This record gives sequence, C-alpha cells and structure tokens, in this order.
Amino acid sequence: MGHREPLNPNERTKKDDNGLNVRARVESIYAHGGFASIDPADLRGRLRWWGLYTQRKPGIDGGRTAILEPHELDDEYFMLRVRIDGGQLSLAQLRVLADISKKYARDTADITDRQNIQYHWIRIEDVPTIWRELEAVGLSTTEACGDTPRVVLGSPVAGIAESEIIDPTEAITEICERFIGDPTLSNLPRKFKSSISWLADTPYEANDISFVGVIHPEHGPGFDLWVGGGLSTNPMLAQRLGAWVPLHEVPEVWLGVIQIFRDYGYRRLRSRARLKYLLADWGAAKFREVLEQEYLKRPLVDGPAPELPERPIDHVGIHKQWDGKFYVGAAPVAGRVSGTMLDQIADAAEAHGSDRVRLTPYQKFLICDVESENVDSLARTLRSHGLQVTPSAWRRGTMACTGIEFCKLAIVETKARAAELVAHLEERLADFDADISIHLNGCPNACARTQVADIGLKGQLVRGPDGDMVEGFQIHLGGGLGMAAGQSAGFGRKVRGLKTTAAELPQYVERVARNYLAERSDGE
Ligand code: SF4
Repeated sequence: MGHREPLNPNERTKKDDNGLNVRARVESIYAHGGFASIDPADLRGRLRWWGLYTQRKPGIDGGRTAILEPHELDDEYFMLRVRIDGGQLSLAQLRVLADISKKYARDTADITDRQNIQYHWIRIEDVPTIWRELEAVGLSTTEACGDTPRVVLGSPVAGIAESEIIDPTEAITEICERFIGDPTLSNLPRKFKSSISWLADTPYEANDISFVGVIHPEHGPGFDLWVGGGLSTNPMLAQRLGAWVPLHEVPEVWLGVIQIFRDYGYRRLRSRARLKYLLADWGAAKFREVLEQEYLKRPLVDGPAPELPERPIDHVGIHKQWDGKFYVGAAPVAGRVSGTMLDQIADAAEAHGSDRVRLTPYQKFLICDVESENVDSLARTLRSHGLQVTPSAWRRGTMACTGIEFCKLAIVETKARAAELVAHLEERLADFDADISIHLNGCPNACARTQVADIGLKGQLVRGPDGDMVEGFQIHLGGGLGMAAGQSAGFGRKVRGLKTTAAELPQYVERVARNYLAERSDGE
C-alpha cells in the first residue's frame, strides 16, 4: 500500500473515462434527456471538467450536510463556473456574461476569489447553448473545476500598472492556448492552481505554482518560482525553489511542474493528493532537481527573492496607469453581483470611454483606461449601482465563499451573512481606519481562504444560547497573506473554543475591532 495504489473512487472514475469526454455526452444526450438522463459518474464527477457542479437543494440545513447521501443534496440545477484567466475581460465579453446570467441563470453571478464568474440555476438543457455563446467571445468553462489546471490567476493591472516591469499576460495566454483542454494534463491527482503576476497582487502563496516578478542582478526582470501552496485542510504556503525564470520560459516551466504533479502526485487518498503533500515529502531542493533533470533537461538559473507587499493589494480606488489614464476599482459586497449589475458595469465603462474590465482575486473589479476628466463621474455612476470606489474598510476587506445557498458541502450561510456583517459594521464603526480582512467560509474547505485573513471564519455548527446546535463560525485570528520581504506569511491562530453563533457574528467582530482600536500601538 503506497501513495499511489489502490486508487480512490474518484481516481477510478477518471481512469474509466477522461473528464473532458463528458462534453460530447452533454451535447448529444444530457441536453436532450434532461437531468434524469445523466450518468451518476458524470453528474458528480466528470461534469466538473466543464465547470459544472450540481447545486444544493434549497432548504436543507447545514446539520444535514454530512448525513445525507449526495443524491439527496443535489438539486436539478447546476453551478457553472466560467474561467477568466488573468481576470481580463473586454466589454463584449462582459456583456455576454451578463446576458447569459439573465437568460439562463436567474440573474445570478458571483465574482469568485479566483477571478472567475460563477452562475447558479443552470439547466443542463441550456449548457450547449451557453458554451457556444461564451466561446463566440473567447470565453470558456473548460477545466474550470475538476482535477485539472484551473484558471490562471494574473495581476488585475497587468499591462497597465505604473510599477509593473513585465506584463506576463502572454505567458498566461500561451498556457491557456496550449494546455487547457489537453487530455494529457486533464487527469491530475487533484486541482492545480496557478498564479502569474509581476506585482504579487494575487494570493501567490496559496497556489500550486506561482510566478512572482523579480529582477535578477545579472539577467534582469523575470519571475521567481514558488510551488506547493494550498489552504483547505492542512494549509501550507508555497515554497520558493530559488529559481529565476524569464518570461518566455514560464510556460515550459509551468508544464514541467504540472507534469511532476501528474506523474508523481499522490492518488491513494484524496485528502492528501494536492501538490503540497508531495512537496512536503520531497522538499524544495529535490523538487527542483526532478524538475530540472527529468522534465526540463537543463538547470534553472538561481535567483533572488522578490520584494513582497506588506498587505494584499486589491486595487480598489482610483489609480493612475503608466499611460496617464486611470483605472477605477470598485467593491461589491463579497463578490455578489448579478447579470443586471454586470450590464450596469459595462454601460458605465462604455459611457466613460473604457473597453476593458478586470476581475480581482479579492472579489472586486476594475474599469481600465479612464481619462482623468471621466473618473469622478464614473465613480458616481458605480456608486449609484451600489458599487463603492471608496468603500469602508469593512466592505473592502470582506470576502465570502458560496456557502449554504448553493454549495453542497456547506454548513452555514455566507454571502448574506457577509452583507449583514458589513452593514452592521458600517453603521457601528463607520470611521474604522485600518485595513482589515474578514473571510467567511461555509465549511472547513476554506475556499475563501479562512487561514490567511485577519479574522478568518470557518463555518460549523455551534451550541446556541438555548443549547441547540445552530449555524456559527470557528474563528482564526491574525492570519494575512503578503508580508514584507524576508518574512513568511502566517496563518491565523485557531484559538480553541473561539467560536460565535452566526447570529452574534456582527457583535463579535465589532468587539474584536473595538478591542483592537483600544489596544493598538502607535502606527499599528
Ligand atoms: Fe462550499 Fe465549503 Fe468551499 Fe464554502 S468553503 S464554497 S461551503 S466547499
């Protein structure tokens, strides 16, 4: 019995048939036969290779999540994730996303913390048409979920930031064109998350592979290579391999790392299959050696550590581009938008002379290329739609995963709780003057990065005032990605017994914030 055999049930499903093949069955069988015609192995497995997840039946409380069989939790509708690599959208693409939301998804749309757009209430009958509408404007759902190379995170200000030295968009584009949908890379042990950014303005430490901009003293600007990050249970931050990679080699190095994961990654236990476990066993030195000797067939160049920001960069507000125009970053609450709102964003951008929008991995969006004389009017227009360009610290720093509204693994509600929390704190602590991050997660899976927030909230049932089990959160305090160079980012401390009911969450966070204000040292 080793790390690779015997295969777990998910591995057997993947071995039986490549997940990418399910598209043909959606087109020829399921879209005509409806939900009941879907093979169970496709329904709860392979459909993910095309961005489809069954969504949770409404009205099932979190206490029953772990008790019910998967088919009892399944609704006959789907969540559909659209990958938006690098978070870059033209207005034409944004309008198609809005249109699909209104026509097929009951006007739902969330901006995820991986720069995707996620719909709900999708019927299998509509999926082939949705694919065609997306693909007509260069968007896709290919490998948006599943044990695949997921969306590649990129800097939301790639190509426009004043401080950027290299725009890595061409590497992201090449990876997507060459390798997304490649059947030789579509049966990985688990998901594979990537980030490529000059500015370290993505959660680079939480990805399986990250390229972070750095200037080599001899070779000039390139990228520092990190591997093996992943949060969820047993969180681990990515480690530097000490290698400098020039822009044109990024796709080849990315390929080598994902091939190591495919070939050596663990497949016996799903809970120990992410790349981080292989890295933990091998160590960074051996990982680099295998990458160089077996996959690249050449040594990598040693490189320096990049300078890293002290706090995550979310790009909210009004900022100058290198070409003298401005980008305007705005904050919906916890990424919740709608098809109607996406249209409003597109209208606002167009009316103010912009043709480009970017999504951020902090559930925000930017409108690019705005002339200085249009900036204030654009900010006012966005505000009239409830989208703040100068949001409170609370709105700016709060993220939430999908939660019990649609997610089958959830134990608690998240998006609506986040909205209540932000409203409470904006009323009670309107002048709060520090950056703060609050991440609400509906279960221990940490999709909204519980462990790296100032206040990380992990959904679970807790004992309420009447002794009954009710929705609540375990609290992790003091995490935070993005630390000064030379330091490593930290995980929030999970303090034993530190829990709150969901109903008391606003008061709890208010108390933490007031204590912080009372006790912080000068300049903190
Ligand atoms: Fe679902 Fe849990 Fe992920 Fe939230 S953290 S989206 S509840 S799996």
